[in-house]
Amino acid sequence: MTVSKHIATQAIHAGRINDEQFGSLATPLYQTSTFVFDNAMQGANRFAGEEAGFIYTRLGNPTTRQLEMRLAAMEGMEDAAATATGMGAVSGALLANLSAGDHLIASKAVYGCSYALMAHQLTKWGIEVTFVDMTNIDNIEASIQPSTKVIFLESPINPNLVVLDIESIGKLAKKHQLISIIDNTFLTPILQQPAQFGFDLIVHSATKYLNGHGDVVAGIICGSAEMISHIKLTVLKDIGATISPHDAWLILRGLKTLPIRVEQHCKSAQIVAEFLAQHPMVDKVHYPGLKEHQGYKFIGKQMKAAGGVIGFEIKGDIAEGTALINRMKLFSIAVSLGDAESLIQHPASMTHSPYSQEERLDAGISDTLIRISVGLEYVEDLIADLKQSLDQVSNSDQRVA
Ligand SMILES: *Cc1c(COP(=O)(O)O)cnc(C)c1O
Repeated sequence: MTVSKHIATQAIHAGRINDEQFGSLATPLYQTSTFVFDNAMQGANRFAGEEAGFIYTRLGNPTTRQLEMRLAAMEGMEDAAATATGMGAVSGALLANLSAGDHLIASKAVYGCSYALMAHQLTKWGIEVTFVDMTNIDNIEASIQPSTKVIFLESPINPNLVVLDIESIGKLAKKHQLISIIDNTFLTPILQQPAQFGFDLIVHSATKYLNGHGDVVAGIICGSAEMISHIKLTVLKDIGATISPHDAWLILRGLKTLPIRVEQHCKSAQIVAEFLAQHPMVDKVHYPGLKEHQGYKFIGKQMKAAGGVIGFEIKGDIAEGTALINRMKLFSIAVSLGDAESLIQHPASMTHSPYSQEERLDAGISDTLIRISVGLEYVEDLIADLKQSLDQVSNSDQRVA
């Protein structure tokens, strides 16, 4: 299955199923709901797992299978399960491994709907959840109980870009035999491969960088063959959060350019972050590529580069932040990230609105935080756009003074 140990080659070739009938270069799109059996016995054998072959697209599809095998290779995992959305991946990974009475330890700061799933849904089903500040490993260790089964985190954290020490967290999870799940959406396997640190399951919103073109919502879970089979057969099959073959096909297309896209996103984001850091109206920049950031020391260790998402806060209140967003011309006001288009959003009122204000502030996500996803446009155009809007903040401020 491994065509090369180099991820740029894997992104194009891993998991490729040759089209023996016509020799199609591009992955054939099997846009079909069901698969025809030769006879009743064959159907029965496939359901019994005694014969390989596809049955029905909710249970598996050849186009989807290529995406799964490709991403598993890229993450250095045995297998993968593609899902309808990133939240399908997060919920699939959690639901398959937690039952009533089990305890889950999760990072306090995570993507807003992941928080909502854990805080508002899992708790309804008798799963106990403790949210901790994972920048201090002792907090995690102190919250482990006999019933603790799973640990869930993301790094860098959406939206405040705090980096967690995933090497130490991976070790701690192993020591206590916890199932460790990490959301690797922000960095992708190009920049971070949590399998190296012993993580059991890696989830992604494939909506973001993996697809990269803003035209799909999807997710994927990577893990051991045994864990992936368990997730597919228990949760995905019955709850039905499986991906559409057409979306899998689009992601396979997007993945081919993932290595070069990510490289450019990182280069441009570094330049944009440095621009923001020196602007007089910017109060704080949250980007691990800046030396002053708490995540900087992890670059070259657990992550190759800082990625393409930046958080920042301006000198001013929410109203000024909103006005700044409204003045942007090239950046689109939209949630999501990892697209060719640069995007800007306000986490407190948008992606992280499932948190109450108190919970959100406690998780280190301020009211004035603005999150940008640096796209693939000419970087000086992006800077000019940010500058014209930031300069107006300083102008209005000077008027007040
Ligand atoms: C967007 C996002 C998700 C959810 O993904 P969807 O595809 O929107 O369901 C989960 N985790 C992170 C870090 C995200 O950015």
